[in-house]
Amino acid sequence: MKKHSWHVNIEDYAPLIGDEVLERILHKAHRLRDLRVLHLSSTFYGGGVAEMLSSATLLARSLGIKADWRLIQGSPDFFNVTKKIHNALQGAKINLTELKKEVYEEIVVQNALRMDLTGYDVVVIHDPQPLPLIRHFRRTCPWMWRCHIDLSQPNPEIWEYLRGFINEYDAVILSLPEYAQRIAPPQVSIMPAINPFSLKNAEMGAAEIKDRLEHYGIPDDLPIVVQVSRFDHWKDPEGVIQAFNLARTEVDATLVLLGNVATDDPEGQEVFESLLSRKEERIIILTAEDSALVNALQRRAAVVMQKSLREGFGLTVTEAMWKGAAVVGGNCGGIRHQIEEGINGFLAASVETAAQCLIQLLRDPGRRGEIGRRARETVRQRFLMSRLIEQYLDLFSAFEATFSLNQQRLSASGLPVTVSKP
Ligand code: UDP
Repeated sequence: MKKHSWHVNIEDYAPLIGDEVLERILHKAHRLRDLRVLHLSSTFYGGGVAEMLSSATLLARSLGIKADWRLIQGSPDFFNVTKKIHNALQGAKINLTELKKEVYEEIVVQNALRMDLTGYDVVVIHDPQPLPLIRHFRRTCPWMWRCHIDLSQPNPEIWEYLRGFINEYDAVILSLPEYAQRIAPPQVSIMPAINPFSLKNAEMGAAEIKDRLEHYGIPDDLPIVVQVSRFDHWKDPEGVIQAFNLARTEVDATLVLLGNVATDDPEGQEVFESLLSRKEERIIILTAEDSALVNALQRRAAVVMQKSLREGFGLTVTEAMWKGAAVVGGNCGGIRHQIEEGINGFLAASVETAAQCLIQLLRDPGRRGEIGRRARETVRQRFLMSRLIEQYLDLFSAFEATFSLNQQRLSASGLPVTVSKP
């Protein structure tokens, strides 16, 4: 299989997805070639959205789709408000005062004033930060809102407020079918996916793994338990430490919490600092922007945890499963769609259950191997970037009638023009 590469073509996926699927994707992309798509989000790194967009836009480009990715800018005030909105969408209680709404909407207006969006055939707006942009453009193409957040229990008041913006979109893309809401636009679900050839996910030799761990002073004399996550209370790093402490009364291990702080997440630093007092010889808390370290840890770990309390999808789970790790995930959101209890991983709703899973897995390398092999196969079948790109192509095709230039091109090329409703 192809090793790490900065430039991935859909053909590189052939050994993983087969020639038939490859041909199907190439055919769908050919019909939409030169389509100009804009993805707009709020950070270039530090979370699943950025992780996916960096690979998905390049893969789309290699298929002839002119995919761009732009960011909105915001002040700390703005990102404070949008993180509150994010939390409320995941069910937290917040008081969104008129002043906060004003900050949110005004910064978006300022972004709109600086932005020229002419020439696109489709605009995809990611998450709540840039959501109100739609109010400030004369629309000449479909606009889609792509929400990556766990919408299983959104705060009703915030939802009501955001719904006004959401209803103006032509389509809404959610991570899971059960996140569907009462809104005007048609809703589709597209589960996230990983790039198996990225620095973070590609094969890695034992020497490279050892080198990365040594570089950060991570001991590998005992089995390693890892959680890789933005420093965010929803990821429950506190719960991971509690579960680890319970488990190590019975088995010896080292815990590594690797985290980062996204530029659009003002709470990260505070969560990181709140954890530092829990550091000790066998509890390592690290922050580093290092994809190779994520790769090394997920490969070297005896158990990977993702004990989230809410999780839109949980790319870290996919990444670890791809590497054949035994994963213990929170019983929520997208983790439930990836892990089949006891088959390719474990789901743990409480600290106690998580500790039990840890003990069981740490004691049984054979079981870990079995679980990990099935986990990798699950990702191969369902969570590779090739599948995500195909779903985007299908969605865009459903709006084909609105791509006027594209229509002419298709007619001129003699291909049939099919128009289907989303
Ligand atoms: N990530 C990383 N370094 C870190 C923490 C997270 O590279 O220290 C990456 C992780 O590998 C994954 C993404 O950030 O690709 C997190 O995506 P996920 O869907 O799990 O969670 P989100 O942060 O989007 O809520």
